[in-house]
Amino acid sequence: MMQDQISDIFIIGGGVNGCGIARDAAGRGLSVTLVEQGDLASGTSSASTKLFHGGLRYLEYFELRLVREALKEREVLLGMMPHISWPMRFVLPLSPDMRFDTETPAARLLARVMPWMKGRRPDWMIRLGLFLYDHLGGRKELPATSGLRLKGTAEGAVLDERFARAFEYSDVWVDDARLVSLNARDAHERGAHVLTRTRFVNAARVDGLWQVTVECDGVNEVHRARALVNAAGPWVAEALSHVSTGMRGQIRLVRGSHIVVPKLYDHDKCYFLQGTDGRICFLIPYEEDFTLIGTTDADHSSVDERPEASEAEQAYLIEFVNSYLRADISLADVVWSYSGVRPLQDDGQTSASAATRDYELRLEAGEAPLLTVFGGKITTYRKLAEAAVSKLAPEHAPWTKGVALAGGDFTVSEKPALEARVAEAYPFIEPRTVRRLVRSYGLDVFEVLGDCVALVDLGAGLSTREVDWLIGHEFALTAEDILWRRSKLGLRMNADGVAALEAYLAAR
Ligand SMILES: Cc1cc2nc3c(=O)[nH]c(=O)nc-3n(C[C@H](O)[C@H](O)[C@H](O)COP(=O)(O)OP(=O)(O)OC[C@H]3O[C@@H](n4cnc5c(N)ncnc54)[C@H](O)[C@@H]3O)c2cc1C
Repeated sequence: MMQDQISDIFIIGGGVNGCGIARDAAGRGLSVTLVEQGDLASGTSSASTKLFHGGLRYLEYFELRLVREALKEREVLLGMMPHISWPMRFVLPLSPDMRFDTETPAARLLARVMPWMKGRRPDWMIRLGLFLYDHLGGRKELPATSGLRLKGTAEGAVLDERFARAFEYSDVWVDDARLVSLNARDAHERGAHVLTRTRFVNAARVDGLWQVTVECDGVNEVHRARALVNAAGPWVAEALSHVSTGMRGQIRLVRGSHIVVPKLYDHDKCYFLQGTDGRICFLIPYEEDFTLIGTTDADHSSVDERPEASEAEQAYLIEFVNSYLRADISLADVVWSYSGVRPLQDDGQTSASAATRDYELRLEAGEAPLLTVFGGKITTYRKLAEAAVSKLAPEHAPWTKGVALAGGDFTVSEKPALEARVAEAYPFIEPRTVRRLVRSYGLDVFEVLGDCVALVDLGAGLSTREVDWLIGHEFALTAEDILWRRSKLGLRMNADGVAALEAYLAAR
């Protein structure tokens, strides 16, 4: 069946990049159609470490352009979405055993000028890196790096006693999957058609337009568009092979896994741990009761293979953190794990950690242009989207910098007051759920809850009102969409709660 409407831009992929581009383009007055084969953020964009960060590690690869752009974006993004993101302090314990990844340009330089270091990463070099990290990106709100003596402190209590000193620096945490659904929602409210569970099949240029075939529920539909954007993430080369174009792309698939364990400590800071193998690992407070640990870097053979945290990867992460912790953890402590595939540009590096995290936008210009996204990070999604739309429609001015995502039109410092207002307006809701709702919906919490005087709780604080909102405004369809992407209530919901949710969805 042929659709009547002709879109200005047709986008393949409902991850952070596709949805970011849809929002930007719709806001510039362009007509947009986006297709996503599964749920929004069902690819890599719900499986990240969830940091808006410059990437301290990339400084050793001299990736200054990427680090600078990402550092500048951290505070821009935090300001646009203070509900789903917040500042975090990272404790970086110092130890003489820690080594460089010997492939990094910084390690090679140091080996030439100071061979007696034998691959060790000196503390002064970390301090220099953190100095650059503080100053490269024009930091304004986030606190600067400081030194920390660990003995007798809450930060030191969880660590082995041999760690006496640390540096502490700032980055920002974000709920990656909600970031995607809020971008899709905003795009939709600005007129974009967001079609989930709709698979891109193929595209060809016909009479100066793209003729795009998609499939939904076994039925094929044909759309027409003036420009085509391939933002299929790890599937980018696969999607490209179904487009009649001379453009080809190599992508390197690098899997990264995380594990979640019951919370290891009581304070709200993260740890940045350096390994003796040149790698790094984060410990991050997660969903109030848990600690998130990750990540790994392993080549992933095929996009058709669903990424999973293998037992070997989980054991690696556990061994890594046990070399720092005072009390060991084991595989039995793992309550959940997840894994995602980084769609990296293939820059010919041998190790997966060394492959560049920078992105490239490749444009085949002409009557019906094709733009393909290679690589990209959560942190740079807005800049990437801005650059992508500016390439396709340079006559329309960029607008997204500083424009809040839905529910995010307040400042970071106003968040506690917002929580207090919600608690006062809905005194029958538990404080934990109030915090979660504010961190999910921000100011929209008043629309989600409306004038209700009681909630029907399906379990773990999930109410039917919230479910209705997620279906009506955020493209959720299944229990998995709600429990694992629009929220992480799957961590807490028992089997009865899941059954109650499924029954409610079936009855709607
Ligand atoms: C372990 C790990 C940790 C990371 N940590 C961070 C971090 O802390 N900070 C950071 O900034 N970045 C991080 N990243 C990078 C970041 O997550 C990714 O770069 C980003 O999510 C990629 O988004 P995307 O939209 O390009 O891809 P995706 O999110 O994968 O989206 C592509 C979408 O296209 C859809 N699709 C594919 N083929 C079709 C088709 N034929 N039809 C319709 N739809 C299709 C897919 O279903 C998918 O949803 C991390 C990545 C990994 C793997």
